[in-house]
Amino acid sequence: MKSIVQEKWKKRPLIISGPCSAETEEQVLETAQRLAKTGRVDMLRAGIWKPRTRPGSFEGIGTKGLPWLQQAKKLTGLPTTVEVATGKQVEDALHFDIDVLWIGARTTVNPFSVQEVADALRGADVPVLIKNPINPDLELWTGAVERVAKAGIKQIGLIHRGFSAYGNTEYRNAPMWHLAIEMKRRNPEMMIINDPSHICGRRDILMDVAQKAIDLDFDGLMIESHIDPDNAWSDAKQQITPEKLAEMLDSIVWRKEDVNSEEYHAALEKLRQQINHLDDELMQILSQRMKIAERIGEYKKNNNITILQTNRWNEILERAFKKGEKIGLSKEFITRYFDAVHMESISHQNKIMNS
Ligand code: PEP
Ligand code: MN
Repeated sequence: MKSIVQEKWKKRPLIISGPCSAETEEQVLETAQRLAKTGRVDMLRAGIWKPRTRPGSFEGIGTKGLPWLQQAKKLTGLPTTVEVATGKQVEDALHFDIDVLWIGARTTVNPFSVQEVADALRGADVPVLIKNPINPDLELWTGAVERVAKAGIKQIGLIHRGFSAYGNTEYRNAPMWHLAIEMKRRNPEMMIINDPSHICGRRDILMDVAQKAIDLDFDGLMIESHIDPDNAWSDAKQQITPEKLAEMLDSIVWRKEDVNSEEYHAALEKLRQQINHLDDELMQILSQRMKIAERIGEYKKNNNITILQTNRWNEILERAFKKGEKIGLSKEFITRYFDAVHMESISHQNKIMNS
């Protein structure tokens, strides 16, 4: 593999940018040159084949756009990356010297498609980035990684682009950060970058999501950029100009995973010990709570009463919201926490009821 690609693959933070779709040769070349001029971008992205949710939207310029990317690379030195979803697309991309390939969210969901892409990759010396599937399923994401790895691809990275959810209003794709964090935990050596563009679906909150990703120690960002965002042929609402991108990258607070200071480590260690103690206590208390729930289960069993008592549950939640507000716990957290506790409690009672 070319050393520039090797070098960029290892660079932190890795910044990938470029249009959602390659539209015209002029648009690709001008975007690439303006991105290169910022000095902040490591790789040029552009969608050549666009998997669109509904028919009738722009479905990508196709293979004809690949020489434009070659030309952009020649002019700027930026390695290029495109999305591939079929074996033929892999062949074409490699034929035109694309440096890094990525598998899109709508492909990761489908093991047949991923396998087809993986088969076409066999023997190729090209890094591959794998986006999370559109649904919140880490096994599908992992499965795609395994299929590509089995095809002999050595350099595999992850892209977190959020998950579809019905009725979502704030984000186009809910970030569900906990899933990205879990994927990172399972693959500690694997690069994971964040794609704020497809999470947000709109410009105004890109910065917040990008900062959050950096705070969570992501290895880089993929952000869509366009010379005329409002008139982009796809994803117009979420694209920004190369100059806006540079401004945004300048205002991000870049954080390190670690520093070499004894004082810092000693202070951190003390606080972490306190957290460990509190976590132990919380678990003890939760276990006591479950034992009481089991006793309630006995009563319910003896009196033939249902486990779920909706009124009582509402009362618990209302109480917790009020209390939580006073002590700085968000309603969202209280809801999730009590849901989890409630489910565990029901399962303990279930065992008693059916014993
Ligand atoms: C894209 O990167 O333009 C794209 C189609 O993304 P996703 O696969 O995340 O929807
Ligand atoms: Mn897009």
